[in-house]
Amino acid sequence: MFKIILCIWQKLKSFLDYIMSDKKFGRGMKKVERYLSIEYNIPVEYLPQPGNYYYTEEESIQIDSTQTLEDQLYTLLHEAGHALTRDTREWPPRHDRKLYRYRYRVDVVHEEIMAWELGWELAIKLGLKLDYKKYNKVRVKCLFEYIRWANNPSEYEGV
Ligand SMILES: [Zn+2]
Repeated sequence: MFKIILCIWQKLKSFLDYIMSDKKFGRGMKKVERYLSIEYNIPVEYLPQPGNYYYTEEESIQIDSTQTLEDQLYTLLHEAGHALTRDTREWPPRHDRKLYRYRYRVDVVHEEIMAWELGWELAIKLGLKLDYKKYNKVRVKCLFEYIRWANNPSEYEGV
């Protein structure tokens, strides 16, 4: 009997933890959205389709809403990081750069790394208490795709 109660309690607790953490990620997203809106006038749109983007010319962000809330927050921080790299550095416009040249590929990978770094710094600045290990897992997965692309763009469609 005691075991059954303990088991139900553990299931209930993990369910509550799940709801609480989703609330935490949702609140985090709202904070990032507010910051982007106030500081940069950048709107965020959530669409149920693959891909997370920062549109340089429109200055807007698109997030894949089919991801978990946790991943939506991490990718939102990353896309916000792109907006911040554009704000703090002189990047040559991408359309002026010849695709597949080494310099272009290195620039792209460089910006991707910067955007993840600045995304994490933004999380700290906004007081979001996140698990860096989990953020890093998403960071590594996404960066690896860019590194694969940079190695051989003509054979890689994913980026
Ligand atoms: Zn990126």
